[in-house]
Amino acid sequence: MATLPIDSRLSAGTAGFITQTHRMLIDGRFVAAASGKTFPVYNPATAEVIAHVPEAEAEDVERAVRAARRAFDDGPWPRMTPSARGRMLWKLADLLEENLEEFAELESIDNGKPLTVARAADVPLAIDMFRYMAGWATKITGSTLSLSFPGDFHAYTLREPIGVVAQVIPWNFPLLMAAWKVAPALAAGCCVILKLAEQTPLSGLRLAELIHQAAFPEGVVNVLTGYGEGAGAPLAAHEAVDKIAFTGSNEVGRLIVKAAAGNLKKVTLELGGKSPAVIFPDADMDRAIAGAASAIFFNHGQCCCAGSRLFVHQQVFDKVLDGVSQIASKIKLAPGLDPACEMGPLVSEEQFHRVTSYIQSGIDQGAQIAVGGRSGAERGYFVQPTVLIKTNPRMKVVSEEIFGPVVCAEPFNDDDLDRIARLANDSIYGLAASVWTRDVSIAHKMARRIRSGTVWVNCHNVFDASLPFGGYKQSGWGREMGEEVIQNYTEVKSVTVAL
Ligand code: ADP
Repeated sequence: MATLPIDSRLSAGTAGFITQTHRMLIDGRFVAAASGKTFPVYNPATAEVIAHVPEAEAEDVERAVRAARRAFDDGPWPRMTPSARGRMLWKLADLLEENLEEFAELESIDNGKPLTVARAADVPLAIDMFRYMAGWATKITGSTLSLSFPGDFHAYTLREPIGVVAQVIPWNFPLLMAAWKVAPALAAGCCVILKLAEQTPLSGLRLAELIHQAAFPEGVVNVLTGYGEGAGAPLAAHEAVDKIAFTGSNEVGRLIVKAAAGNLKKVTLELGGKSPAVIFPDADMDRAIAGAASAIFFNHGQCCCAGSRLFVHQQVFDKVLDGVSQIASKIKLAPGLDPACEMGPLVSEEQFHRVTSYIQSGIDQGAQIAVGGRSGAERGYFVQPTVLIKTNPRMKVVSEEIFGPVVCAEPFNDDDLDRIARLANDSIYGLAASVWTRDVSIAHKMARRIRSGTVWVNCHNVFDASLPFGGYKQSGWGREMGEEVIQNYTEVKSVTVAL
């Protein structure tokens, strides 16, 4: 194999990891794909191949599921004390923290995001997630119940791990999505098979090394690299998997549901969004303008909760549009590892074409570009931060998820909160929303009227391991994080004892 290009800004440790022969973690061992096949990993800033990773297929899935099944049915993990499980999760968090810089570099080169963002957001949030869930391991409880059934009974519920869990994650926050999935499942006592996104497998493979280093029992966590059809689909269909947790597109979400029907495994889905940011005329304008810009441009708009529909009261529309457009035009596009980078490339050629063709479809349907609209560099998958105006709800750019740095800004000339909420709710999605106002009453009334799993007031994209996150409507089933996610990885058993 030819020598692959190494970005000279990478530390020696990270470069060493990227150039090593990559293996998947199955049953406590690092292995190649059974077929010996590999597939390429790209640096989206240069479109160059930087590594090759194993291409898991049905046979590898089979090995991983069998390992997880054994670990769950006969192994120590679900049987050890909750406190011991919690300590293991904490140890993994410590190892992540010791290697924070390396993980930030891996996220930046693999996904394209600014190193500064990966360092300040992705990796610390992943560490927090493991620590938060380490705490939950000892707090999973049932309840005692008073029965009205004739007789004398002692009745209680037990909360038990759901079993073997398959987890399929996307590429927008590779390490963080792995943490959101793996940490609660392990806290609950489940055993997992994690399938990384084919675009961004590097940080997940490094996490697999730390899982091994932390000495989790064999088969408790299995980490696969592979494509959706080759590795994700057989996981979703597998008869010995008790649950599948998926984050990604609605299209694939539907395939997962169909595949899961065979053994009626439990399913949770975190899917798309078209989140509104609604700015009222009394809002703190500087904050609202900066907030609306970061709602869409953070992570290059590659967030399922990106504020991609901006509704602004007519009185302040021009001011907000001008402010957001100015911010957009000043954002510095550069490779994620460049210290000056404020926005990196999109993750892949496919996403580049997807986002630029959405912009074109907006223009074809009559929208106007206030700022941006072009690719941002000669090579790599850069797209300028873009603001579209003169849009309407029938346009694809308004109704469909673009997953790029493109916002549709529309004025509203109304003070009726029900009608304003109807505008915000006019979407098949219901993942998140933000409301910008100084009026406490408007804030809370809007929070109730908006039909989404998250409502932010005077902020957007605030995440915490304790805050449940997930979708109303077609944005998903179930919740990630918080106490709620523990319910998604446990079964409830009623025990009734006649005294
Ligand atoms: P995106 O469009 O953001 O890339 P996808 O929904 O296509 O999101 O992919 C998210 C994850 O789902 C990835 O890990 C991908 O490999 C996986 N995937 C894609 N197709 C399937 C499938 N048919 N079954 C299971 N997983 C799949």
